[in-house]
Amino acid sequence: MTFEGKTAIVTGAAQGIGRAVALDLAERGVGLLLADIQGDKVEGVAAEVRSSGGTATATSVDVTNAGSVGEMVALALREFGAIDILVNDAGGSGTEGILDIEDVSEDRWDAQVDLNLKGAFLCCKAVVPHMRARGYGRIVNLSSSNARGHFGPLYTSGIRLPYAAAKAGIVGLTAQLARDLGRSGIYVNAVLPGFILTEEGARVRGRYEELQRVSQEAMAEAVPLGRPGRADEVAKAVAFLASDDASYITGTVVEVTGGR
Ligand code: NAD
Repeated sequence: MTFEGKTAIVTGAAQGIGRAVALDLAERGVGLLLADIQGDKVEGVAAEVRSSGGTATATSVDVTNAGSVGEMVALALREFGAIDILVNDAGGSGTEGILDIEDVSEDRWDAQVDLNLKGAFLCCKAVVPHMRARGYGRIVNLSSSNARGHFGPLYTSGIRLPYAAAKAGIVGLTAQLARDLGRSGIYVNAVLPGFILTEEGARVRGRYEELQRVSQEAMAEAVPLGRPGRADEVAKAVAFLASDDASYITGTVVEVTGGR
């Protein structure tokens, strides 16, 4: 995969899959604007990239806020003059385990859908005019195997119902935007991860470590490959879809689920 001279915005880059995407793209020579609501933590990831010889600037962003997203895109353009790639990673089902619809308040619903669906919409809306003008763009959105629903315990999921709805919405957003933007040279794809055990300090790892051993084993047993996925395994799929090697692939969803 060749990325010479390419630049990317990665949201949700402070930890977990977003951080792995940042480190992977940096290693491939992509210039990065790393954005996250955890401003200090994402600055640490940018520093890590720079100390390994890569190019990265960090910024604080709230992807649910159009003004904040606009500032992020303006900063990327000031830093690099062009944005080739957008990875919409910011998201997640939170740390509060909520299973039943009766416990899903309207506020919680709105917050989940805003973070996991509207956030990607706002980031796409902010970069597309620039990508359209250049006739080039690669957008990769993060969906989830929860988009198809899961039966049984929550395990590492937080609030599952609005999260599933929003991540299914990502599939629709990806499919439609790809059709709308194909003639403008902008490719839009999604990656659909299953159970990805992120690093120490990241959300899914934290919830996993609170589970009983029997539940941890049940999670791995439900995966045909017999183990959780790693964030770097998701990052490689993101990199492929963001690369020019995926030159005839748009509007698709690549599953990184270990066969689940
Ligand atoms: P994570 O919670 O560890 O990381 C998400 C990052 O998004 C955090 O750094 C957080 O600060 C940031 N963020 C949260 N709200 C934000 C906001 N409003 N604006 C900007 N940044 C914000 O999650 P993860 O496990 O690394 O997951 C990353 C993505 O992959 C998410 O979209 C998630 O839904 C998806 N996903 C993860 C898994 C998994 O098993 N880890 C599985 C399927 C899908």
